[in-house]
Amino acid sequence: MTGVKFIFVTGGVASSLGKGIISASLAKLLQARGYSVTIQKLDPYINIDPGTLNPYEHGECYVTLDGAETDLDLGHYERFLNIPTSQENNVTTGRIYQTVINNERRGDYLGKTVQVIPHITDEIKRRIKLVAAGTRFDIVITEIGGTVGDIESLPYIEAVRQMKWELGNENCISLHLTLVPFLSASGEQKTKPTQHSVKALLEAGVQPDILVLRSERSLSPELKRKVALFCNVKEDSVVESVDVKTIYEVPLLMLSQNLDTIVLRKLGLPESEKPELSDWREFVDRIKNPLHTVRVGLVGKYVELHDSYKSISESFIHAGAANKCRVIVEHISSEKIDSENVSSILENLDGIFVAPGFGQRGIEGKIEAVRYARENNIPFFGVCLGMQCAVIEFARNVLGLKGAHSTEMDPSTPFPVIDLMEDQKKITEKGGTMRLGGYRCIVNSDSNSFRAYGTREIIERHRHRYEFNNKYLDDFTGNGMLPAGVNPEWDLVEIIEIPSHRWFVGVQFHPEYNSTVLNPHPLFVKFINACMAFRSEKTDNR
Ligand code: GLN
Repeated sequence: MTGVKFIFVTGGVASSLGKGIISASLAKLLQARGYSVTIQKLDPYINIDPGTLNPYEHGECYVTLDGAETDLDLGHYERFLNIPTSQENNVTTGRIYQTVINNERRGDYLGKTVQVIPHITDEIKRRIKLVAAGTRFDIVITEIGGTVGDIESLPYIEAVRQMKWELGNENCISLHLTLVPFLSASGEQKTKPTQHSVKALLEAGVQPDILVLRSERSLSPELKRKVALFCNVKEDSVVESVDVKTIYEVPLLMLSQNLDTIVLRKLGLPESEKPELSDWREFVDRIKNPLHTVRVGLVGKYVELHDSYKSISESFIHAGAANKCRVIVEHISSEKIDSENVSSILENLDGIFVAPGFGQRGIEGKIEAVRYARENNIPFFGVCLGMQCAVIEFARNVLGLKGAHSTEMDPSTPFPVIDLMEDQKKITEKGGTMRLGGYRCIVNSDSNSFRAYGTREIIERHRHRYEFNNKYLDDFTGNGMLPAGVNPEWDLVEIIEIPSHRWFVGVQFHPEYNSTVLNPHPLFVKFINACMAFRSEKTDNR
């Protein structure tokens, strides 16, 4: 681990200021200078992982290639850095305590009282150093969830203090993100909340080295000087982060204020190479200056909180940029769709996307949306539950299997076209027991999927329990819905397509977890492409 440098990112004043984006942006700049960087998220809640959380609680659950159910910030890390994260990149208080308690039962601390300090803080430090183990990374950025001053984040701040003390300020720096609110009544920007937040950090023994100030509008040099003076931070180490059009502009915004050089100097690292960001700039330019537009309906049941579908929305942005196209995503609640109103809700869309999900609520609306897309030859893309809905719809309305369903929603359906795998039937625990992480899939060479991927063997990430029921496979194939991708180990149908339709693809896996700025996901790219073609056909026919 020698030689690895650590950067800790904390937040104050308010939550949701975008620590994940700042961490990812800084990492991007350091990576663009030739350093190998990874980012870790420490979450101060007691769940072992966010896998059991409702998306309304905490936004989307992101899945890593090695099958960890993690915080959605890891999605930002991967999308910005274009390198995979793993189990070690997200640790919760629950996991920390679980380890310490298991150690205690095994007798590792025999004779000792087990306490927050040193046992919990030692375990936090061990988890931080674990990411840095080996020689994989030059720099590890650790983002601490929550807000400074919360009871639950105290042990983490103490761990940061200890690491700075052990490794020295030249190996370990702290970046603190706060909010500078604007009071419209007096027309002033206020620094007091930042001062208080830094005080809270100082009380816990951590002097921040860099401050990033979120604000709606630009901050004057006097204001930054004032913050620097009162927070005991160098003047050039106060950086502003004003609101921008797209999160992908943040690295460029940070670069314009030399955040990368400030960090490298503090860590005593050479800053020889200028950051190589031409692809990134091109990408931002494409987002800001699109040549085309399409309107896609995202049919789901968690539509009130857009964070629930974070990776999907970002995948649409990546795919839009690849097609020089602005993708307007209309979030449509499947609960509001029925057979009467479906056409009035979906008729102006250029493509229909049916989202992943769990449970009964809103399921019939999703199935109606699939039917509308299939019958009207509108580009369709279904992911996980979205694919399962496409299978159910086809069974009911094309194969005539009345009452066909997934056994998740209707355990006594006469036609269980989506069913549990044998292995899953024995499982009773909910946490971490789904089919999770990367699995192989062999793609049929005559399919829209193959035309997208350009290769027959792919690995995609999964997060589900239920599967296509192969008992019905011949019936589907004989009537025009084909398996376009199959897992070779278990013979599981992973992709379904309707070749007679202009573009109808359903996937059991989650392609959205694999889409990054530099590698937009091919299925999203081709889906948007199909939406563009459909839209121009509609305009030509008018
Ligand atoms: N509920 C479905 C299953 O468990 C689909 C899950 C999902 O969409 N992620 O199989």
